Amino acid sequence: MLRQKHIVMVGCTAPSHIYPSLGVLSELVRRGHRVSYVVGAPLASLVAPTGATVVEHPTTFPLGEAAVWPDDPADAMRVFLDEAIAIHPLLTARFDDDRPDLVLYDIGGLGAPLLAKRYGVPAVQLSPTLVAWEGYDEDMAEVMAPIKASPSGVDYAATLSGWLSSHGVSADPWYWLGHPERVLSLIPRAMQPQADRVGPHVRFVGPCLDPARLGDRSWTPPASGRRVLLVSFGTAFTDQLPVYRACVEAFASDWHVVISLGKHVSPEALGTLPDSVEVFESVPQLAVLEAASAFITHAGMGGATEALWFGVPTVAIPQAADQFGNAAQLEELGVGRHLPASSVTVSSLREAVEQVSSSASVAARLAELKTEIHSHGGVSFAADAVESSLE
Ligand code: UDP
Repeated sequence: MLRQKHIVMVGCTAPSHIYPSLGVLSELVRRGHRVSYVVGAPLASLVAPTGATVVEHPTTFPLGEAAVWPDDPADAMRVFLDEAIAIHPLLTARFDDDRPDLVLYDIGGLGAPLLAKRYGVPAVQLSPTLVAWEGYDEDMAEVMAPIKASPSGVDYAATLSGWLSSHGVSADPWYWLGHPERVLSLIPRAMQPQADRVGPHVRFVGPCLDPARLGDRSWTPPASGRRVLLVSFGTAFTDQLPVYRACVEAFASDWHVVISLGKHVSPEALGTLPDSVEVFESVPQLAVLEAASAFITHAGMGGATEALWFGVPTVAIPQAADQFGNAAQLEELGVGRHLPASSVTVSSLREAVEQVSSSASVAARLAELKTEIHSHGGVSFAADAVESSLE
């Protein structure tokens, strides 16, 4: 039995970065480790239920549905770097007299490897999204070249490089960013592009759905026995009134439709709804997915992996960022359809949902993936992997 250890988790102040590892951190606390979770003060309450000691700090992160992130990619990366530089002295002041045995960190917790180096302990990244594969830098060279050459990119690299050297690290800043030493990937291997080219420094342990969320029974399936359709665009891309209207028109007559409206759309905007349509500002998504026969999603990594965990076919309408890649990956896996936002109509939604939910090959592929994912994912598996870094 492993002696109790002090584990510092350097998080990042964004809900989608926090949710994927909550279950693992709760499990580490349950196993008797002392976990200190570093996060921006506005999201302290998300982290507190793990039982970790929350180490709050001021944050400059854009938060909430009204958050405005810089359009320029290097400026967006700069948000993470500026935060890391600003909080680093707070972290050393806090932990110099209460040293960790291990530093865990989110991909946004940029200063964590420096903290681990200071204390001579391992740093293990908990990655909530896809990881770089062997040859990634070459494969992405065309995309990255203009970012690196832009004034904001040059400034970003100079600032990162200066910060690293002030901590005794001389490394190419772009290389340093993309090449963490040890990674536990919290996504299922099936969602990782070029999975065969991912190096041995990465272990796939996901998804690690939080048992507290898995146990949420605040939603129960309808007595009607109808097939359940979940419509959810995650936590940030929910301003989708035309899509919600089209879903009501397409499915209210013979499906049971559950829609997560988010903060932008009021239930009144959809008019009087029949019993077969339920709308919420936020749904207990795992409880609904457990009963669902189809999922209309923006293909955020969270929703995409949850769909695979429960074996639910997807119709993906990606909006931004990694969602296009995730939608393509779900289609490639044979478990979903990508419906571009510009092609969404009542009939295209109906056709896509009926096709994915009635196809025998989709059902077979989902069953296969579900077995694979349940056999090497989950909080216990991931907590074992974290503890193996402590030995
Ligand atoms: N979620 C939820 N209820 C909702 C909408 C979202 O529980 O009504 C959860 C969902 O289960 C997922 C996360 O919020 O774990 C959203 O993450 P995802 O990566 O899918 O999308 P993002 O919000 O990051 O765009």
